[in-house]
Amino acid sequence: TNTLTAIAELVFIVVIMHADLSVRRMMDIEMRKAIANGHFMLHYQPQIDEAGNVVGAEALIRWRHAKMGEIPPVKFIPLAEETGLIVPIGNWIMRAACAQLAQWDARPETRRLSMAVNISASQFRQPDFVQNMYDIVRVSGVNPSKLKLELTESMFVDDVGATVAKMSALKNMGLAWSLDDFGTGYSSLSVLNSFPLSQIKIDKSFVQGMLNNAANMAVTEAIIELAEKLNLQVVAEGVETVEQLNRLRQAGCRIYQGYLFSPPLGIDAFHEFLSSEASRAEPCAGYLRQ
Ligand code: C2E
Ligand code: MG
Ligand code: MG
Ligand code: MG
Repeated sequence: TNTLTAIAELVFIVVIMHADLSVRRMMDIEMRKAIANGHFMLHYQPQIDEAGNVVGAEALIRWRHAKMGEIPPVKFIPLAEETGLIVPIGNWIMRAACAQLAQWDARPETRRLSMAVNISASQFRQPDFVQNMYDIVRVSGVNPSKLKLELTESMFVDDVGATVAKMSALKNMGLAWSLDDFGTGYSSLSVLNSFPLSQIKIDKSFVQGMLNNAANMAVTEAIIELAEKLNLQVVAEGVETVEQLNRLRQAGCRIYQGYLFSPPLGIDAFHEFLSSEASRAEPCAGYLRQ
């Protein structure tokens, strides 16, 4: 019976592995179709400053699948990274974000907006990453100083010299680098002055744990203070309540992103959000009054 159980377990594992493989193969095929058929789109989440003004947006990819509905990025970006599809997808994201930014730049009422674009680790590692980004920005005609590229600490485990060189090349073009999900990785604080960063984003787990966990509050305050001393702009992610907002303001954080203000929005809804904010006597008055 022991042998039988072992064989049964083995068969089970093989079946699961095979199922997993076919799901992955199916997803890969579906992703290729989505690129070809234009089934990816960008949503934009507003970034708000202390005065309540929308200062920019983070572009977040969405996949509208005819049969499976909307597939969230966490379900396909990791697979796209493994298969290499992240390169064409990442280039599409950058082109779409730059095209939108060019439109904002052409109108006085949206000219102030910056655009943040997420860059995945394997996309960054491509030898032609810098050239691709450079070409897309040039062709789009956007002002590179309005662009922020978000990366995560996972990229800092690679060859530091090569990473700094890539970052610097794009920074010299005028783009800014932002460190996403700060505090969740394993890198040391020294990354903050070893890489040419302009901004850090405090991960939503700190923001959301801050009020009922003294240690989270201490970490958040320390991050903000350190960032200020290093001349890095700080953005708080995942701000959901007025209490969180007020504590972040007290701690010196001046840019916020989160459901308190708005979830990521399709472009029409994003423009509606902008005009409803602009028509208020005091933008975001409800949230920002102490
Ligand atoms: P991220 O870059 O840290 O993006 C923030 C995520 O937090 C977004 O999820 C956003 O919808 C969500 N979020 C914003 N405000 C709140 C809030 O108040 N509460 C909560 N609970 N969540 C909030 P989303 O769009 O599902 O993206 C998840 C992750 O997928 C992103 O994390 C990013 O790592 C990746 N991703 C999304 N779009 C892209 C993309 O265009 N390219 C790449 N490479 N990765 C992307
Ligand atoms: Mg991000
Ligand atoms: Mg994040
Ligand atoms: Mg993330």
